[in-house]
Amino acid sequence: MFTAVILSQARSAESKDPYRMKKLWFLLFTTACFAQSADWATPAERSNYRTTPRYDETMAYVRRVAAATPGQVKVFTFGQTGEGRDLVAVAVSRDGVFDPQALHAAGRPIVLIQNAIHAGEMDGKDSCLALLRDMGVTKTRAGLLERAVVLIIPIYNPDGHERFGPFNRINQNGPEEMGYRVDAENLNLNRDYMKADAPETKAWLRLWNEWLPDFFVDDHVTDGADYQYDVTYNLTDAPGQDPAIASWLETTVAPYLENTVQDAGHLAAPYIDLVDGHDPTKGLNRFPGSPRFADGYVLLQNRPGLLVEMHMLKDYKTRVTGNYEILRALLQLINREADRLVKMNREADAAVIAAGKSPGHHFILRSQASKETVPFFYRGYKFTTTPSEISGQPWIQYTQEPMNIEIPRPARLEPTYSVEVPRAYIIPREWDHVIEVLQLQGVRMLHTTAPWTGEVQTYRCHDLKWRTRPFEGRHPLFNSEFGSGEFGGECAMVREKLSFAAGSVVVPMDQRSAKVAIEWLEPQAPDSAVVWNFFDPVFEQKEYAEDYVLEKLARDMLAKDPALKQEFENKLAGDKAFAASPRARLEFFYRRSPWYEVQRVGLYPVGRLTTLDGVPVR
Ligand SMILES: [Zn+2]
Repeated sequence: MFTAVILSQARSAESKDPYRMKKLWFLLFTTACFAQSADWATPAERSNYRTTPRYDETMAYVRRVAAATPGQVKVFTFGQTGEGRDLVAVAVSRDGVFDPQALHAAGRPIVLIQNAIHAGEMDGKDSCLALLRDMGVTKTRAGLLERAVVLIIPIYNPDGHERFGPFNRINQNGPEEMGYRVDAENLNLNRDYMKADAPETKAWLRLWNEWLPDFFVDDHVTDGADYQYDVTYNLTDAPGQDPAIASWLETTVAPYLENTVQDAGHLAAPYIDLVDGHDPTKGLNRFPGSPRFADGYVLLQNRPGLLVEMHMLKDYKTRVTGNYEILRALLQLINREADRLVKMNREADAAVIAAGKSPGHHFILRSQASKETVPFFYRGYKFTTTPSEISGQPWIQYTQEPMNIEIPRPARLEPTYSVEVPRAYIIPREWDHVIEVLQLQGVRMLHTTAPWTGEVQTYRCHDLKWRTRPFEGRHPLFNSEFGSGEFGGECAMVREKLSFAAGSVVVPMDQRSAKVAIEWLEPQAPDSAVVWNFFDPVFEQKEYAEDYVLEKLARDMLAKDPALKQEFENKLAGDKAFAASPRARLEFFYRRSPWYEVQRVGLYPVGRLTTLDGVPVR
């Protein structure tokens, strides 16, 4: 309206007073610019949530916010993708303090919110653009920055994001087009946090160690069942987590998130993972945070993590606004409990350092859901199950009619495998790929200044079962995608005298990231270097004996050792497969000879040190 008045005045003034005309045209121009800049609708909002913006449009919006809020919003690049796109992060701080050291010193919590690791799951990105605007430009949510500094990764997987199309998420209800799950090398970044194969992971780890956030959020969209909740979440849990943080998440954070999200007109619940996808009444699973996942990884760094999983079948507007509400709720609580959170994180670090100084502490590496269950009040939908002539299995069809029932959920996670924390690990220098990963993870390392030979604890592993089909570009030693399955083999602890060249790496356990090193260096940990194939050559036999040579060896050994002769005869009598295999019968002797032992097949080359005394390190 105002514009139209100026326009008519300018036209009428045109012929009479050229100076006034110029002034009016200028006024018109600035009014138009103001009107445009005042339109802070996000790209998704502008399309009424039909679409989600591409990478360039997303970054243009972020930079526009930064330009409109000088000193409060900092946009920076923290690495490059495989295809060469910038990995962009946005820091938001009420007073322009962005230096992580200064923020830690001031006791201000840093919250890292990651979006689009699975680049078809766009809800978090679009809700973060709105949050960014509301904190920085319109200031309707300026209170969220009172104590906290928010670090947002709008698109963590830009290469996947730009593989844009309508067919990338078969289960998901909108937007019209979206990115794809994996990175340019077909790697699922949300299985890569320990092995760090992808350039995105390497960049993320550097960002993490530079900022050392106090709280981490990873935004996703579900697959799985249909139910009433639009917002599901997991305050990631593992038995090795710091107990004070675990208790705060359960008793304070979870109820606050659920109530606040519900008050805003959404419905939240813990992540729904059904025991039986064909029958919700059978109950829920419970699983530990595994370090190959973003939200499980941060537990090793003594920091709490929140996994957000928006329900795939809700419309895009409901999902983006619901995602916004859980982020807002979390930031509200973190501002309110800033001192408590910062203190708990410091104490969790101190506890890990203390455990690394004194022997006798155990660290839990594997756990499983308890058999004991507790009732969970489930807001599902009524469903029918009919036999399907297509699949030959029961066909579940959900109605939209609420079904509110109690179903069982495991009461807790129970440890199944733990190790005693050593004083330090020693890694021979030749295992440089293993050492590089620890460097990326921010683990502090010392180096030996001279060759050293000494007795260490280590493992002898046998009967390892690698997956025959590739998984995330490797053939790991476990049978479960989620890292909760059993270790695929046997490793027994032994004491061995081993030699280490000068320049070998010593990893002391009295450091805040000791748990990362334990996970990586204990062979039977779910995401160890052994599991992820970094030590495969150790398990290969490299010298072989000819049959006619072994015949002679066997006869000599039998002649000298009556007990061995008895053992051999018992095995022949009791083991048909053995008796039927000429090779196995000859191997029986070879494996018991120094000719085999010298090869050290299956001897893990990393040592566990109970003391640093006598080890020449700097
Ligand atoms: Zn996902």
